[in-house]
Amino acid sequence: MTDKLTWIDEELQNLRDGGLYNKIRTLGSPQGAWLVVDGAKALNFCSNNYLGLANHPRVVAAAKKAMGQYGVGPGAVRTIAGTMDLHVKLDKRLAEFKGVESAITFQSGFTANMGVIPALVGKEDAIFSDELNHASIIDGSRLSGATIIRYAHCNAADLEKQLQEQRTDFRRSLVISDGVFSMDGDVAPLDKIYEVAKDFDALLMVDDAHGEGVLGRGGRGIVDHFDLHGKVDVEVGTMSKAFGVMGGVVAGNPKVVEWLHQRGRPFLFSSAMTVPDVAACLEAIAILEESTELVDKLWANADYFKAEMKYLGFDTGKSVTPITPVMLGEAPLAQQFSRELFEAGVFAMAIGFPTVPRGKARIRVMISAAHSKDDLDQGLEAFAKVGRTLGVIA
Ligand SMILES: *Cc1c(COP(=O)(O)O)cnc(C)c1O
Repeated sequence: MTDKLTWIDEELQNLRDGGLYNKIRTLGSPQGAWLVVDGAKALNFCSNNYLGLANHPRVVAAAKKAMGQYGVGPGAVRTIAGTMDLHVKLDKRLAEFKGVESAITFQSGFTANMGVIPALVGKEDAIFSDELNHASIIDGSRLSGATIIRYAHCNAADLEKQLQEQRTDFRRSLVISDGVFSMDGDVAPLDKIYEVAKDFDALLMVDDAHGEGVLGRGGRGIVDHFDLHGKVDVEVGTMSKAFGVMGGVVAGNPKVVEWLHQRGRPFLFSSAMTVPDVAACLEAIAILEESTELVDKLWANADYFKAEMKYLGFDTGKSVTPITPVMLGEAPLAQQFSRELFEAGVFAMAIGFPTVPRGKARIRVMISAAHSKDDLDQGLEAFAKVGRTLGVIA
C-alpha cells in the first residue's frame, strides 16, 4: 500500500531546506517582558502584547470576577442562545472607545475579516486591495467571490488609477487596507486613500489590528490618528494585540453592524467570545481610557530602541511604529541570527517567505510598554554581539 501522505514529508523537507520551517517554542510563563522559553529565561521581543496588558493584574482580576458571575462559555452562537449582557457591553464600549456609532465583536480579527468582507461584496463587485494586506483580508476577499484588484503598496495614486480603469465594470467596490503593516511597521496613507475612495464612491475598510492601542490619541487607532472620524465605513480590529486578550471587532456605520448581526457568517455559525475574554477586554478598555501612560511608554521605548539599532548600523526598514524589522535578506541568515540571539537570552523570531517576500527575511522585534530601559539595553547588547559575529554590522 502506498502512503498517500508522502507528499507532506517532501513538502516539509523543502521547508526545512529553505530555512522556512516553523519551529514553535514552548512558553512556561505568562506574557511579559521576560518569558520562560523552552525552559530558559529569555527577553521577549516577539509578542504583540504592546501595552503589557496580557498579564496585567487588573485585567486578570476582571476575568476571574466575571467567571464567578457568568461561568466560562457563551453556550452557543449569539443569534440562537441569546447574548450575554457582558457581550453587549463590550460591543458598546468598543464603539465608544473608537468614537464610532456601532461595533460588533467576533471571535478573532481573522474571523472578523471572514465575516465582514463577504457580507459587503459578492460576485458582481470588486475589492481594491493593498498588495501587502494581511492573510485574513486576502482569505475573506476570496471567500466573497468578488474580483480582487491589487494596488501597489500604500500607493493612493495607483489605487486611483485602478479605480479609474475598472470601477465602472462592477456593481459595488470596496477598498481595503491594513492600517499598520505588521511585517514592516509602516502606516497606510489612510487620508489619501479616503479621498480616492470617496471620489469613486467606493466603500472604505481599514484593518487596524496593529494600530489599536498604539496609534491615535491614547491608542484609539488609525482613524483617530488621521482624524477621519465618521469617514471610514468599516474598521476591523483585534483584541489579541495591544488589548492583550483575544477577539475581533468590526466598528463603524450602524447599518454595517446591523447587517453583520444578520449576515456575518462567523457571527451566525461560530460561538461568541468566552466570558473571561470579554471581561478582560472591558478592563483593557477601561485602563486605556483612564490614562495614556502605557501608550506613551510604548512609543518612548520604540523610539529609543529603533534609534539605538540604527546607530549600531542595523537596517530597520521603513517602520514608523513600534514594530521593528531588522532586515537580513536570506531566510537561513535570519534563522541563524534568531538562534544565536536565543543563546544570548533574547527571544526574537526570524520571519521569512511566505509571510514576507523571498530575499526579505528579517528578525521582527516587537517593542512593548512592558520593557524597562534595562531590558532594551540588554536586547541591544545581544543584537550588537550577534550582528558582529555574523558580519551583519561592522
Ligand atoms: C493579527 C492580525 C489579524 C488577526 O487577528 P487575530 O485576532 O489574532 O485573529 C488580522 N488582521 C491583521 C492586519 C493582523 O495583523
